[in-house]
Parts: sequence; C-alpha cells; structure tokens
Amino acid sequence: MYKSSPSTSAVMPSTSAGGSGAKSQPQFETTNKEESETDSEESDVSGSEGDDTSWISWFCNLRGNEFFCEVDDEYIQDDFNLCGLSSQVPYYDYALDLILDVESSHGDMFTEEQNELVESAAEMVYGLIHSRFILSSKGMAAMLEKYKNYDFGRCPKVYCSGQPCLPVGQSDIPRSSTVKIYCPKCEDIYYPRSKYQGNIDGAYFGTTFPHLFLMTYGNLKPQKATQSYVPRVFGFKLHKP
Ligand SMILES: [Zn+2]
Repeated sequence: MYKSSPSTSAVMPSTSAGGSGAKSQPQFETTNKEESETDSEESDVSGSEGDDTSWISWFCNLRGNEFFCEVDDEYIQDDFNLCGLSSQVPYYDYALDLILDVESSHGDMFTEEQNELVESAAEMVYGLIHSRFILSSKGMAAMLEKYKNYDFGRCPKVYCSGQPCLPVGQSDIPRSSTVKIYCPKCEDIYYPRSKYQGNIDGAYFGTTFPHLFLMTYGNLKPQKATQSYVPRVFGFKLHKP
C-alpha cells in the first residue's frame, strides 16, 4: 500500500481526532487529558502504521485533518452521493480506489509523480464527499461526537466563555478559501487556531454545515452572549465619533 508514502512525517495516529466515536469519552472532557493519553499510545501504533488502517482513518488522523469525520464506506459506494464529482477531479477513479482501499495495479505503471497526483486527488475527492456526507443524518451524528469533544476548537471571544465552534466554509467551490470556525454564540467566524487546520479547504465543509447542524440539534444552540466588551479610558466610556 503506498498510502504511507507521501508524507510519513505527517502520520500521526492521534486518537483525539478519531472522529468515529470509538472511544467513549465522557462528554466535554478537557482536551489536555486526551492529548496525554494519545502520547502514550502513539509509540504502539507507529510501528504497525499502514496496513490494517483504512485510508480514511489514516487521512483523518493526519495533523491538521482533525476537523474531518470518517465518511462511511457505504456512503462512498453509493454512486448517487458522488454525482458530479468525477468531472471535478483528475484521476478520479484511481483516487476513489485509493480512498476505499481497493487494491489496484496502477501503482506499478504510474510514475512517482503520477502517484502523487492520485494522492492529492484522493484528498480532494474525500473532501468533496465529506462536505456532502456531513449534511446527511449519519454524517451529522459523527460531527456531533466531534463537537462534544471540542474537536473544532472554541470561540476566542472572552464573552463567549469557551463556546465550542463548528467548521464552516466561506464558499462551496474548492480552492476559494480555507476552512473557518463558526461560533454559534456570537454567530461569527474565526481562523482555526492550528496553522495546519488553517490550510484545509473550506469547501470540504461547505457553507451550510454548521447552520443545518444547529437546526438539526436545536438544543445545542446557545443563548446569545449578554455581555459585550466596552472600551474605557480612566474608567470612562469612550464617546462615539
Ligand atoms: Zn463566539
């Protein structure tokens, strides 16, 4: 399997980004604790990196890919869900085989450069499928687990009191802008804290996701922040010009 070839340094089997909800963490646990757990497990996994992990879980565990959930094989195998993607991505069929861990012989006949193209195509195909999957009920449930786990980070605003955020794209067209995080409390968007996450294409999450998510799980929509910051000089509010 050549999935481990592109960037071995980036292979990080971090459990915190697992996404599948396999670990039944208590809700809203602090991430710090989780990271320390991850460190100890890392050494065990790195030796057997590759073969028994699916491409999808390998991809979702790369550094920076923490926002992605694992898309069901079933969803990808349904052609209806992939409608229109093949024309958007070069090497589409090979990329799809790679994502689904389908052994194919093209690896032998492709040059290294072509294999790299297939790999980056796979990333794009996965991202575009992902943006659709997270709007389905299964996908939304997977993202709910990640949200409860603070996988998307928290709002940087002081008066939002650490409100967990959701990923959002500013466009549904690939390569238009990078992913941002949306705070349901102040209803604004921010850059993700990690520069690795900051390089991810926003179209892989789309413009609709956080809003449909909050419509679906209405109980998660927080009250608006009641306080807002007031600048003062020697204790006096500033006059608006
Ligand atoms: Zn906020």
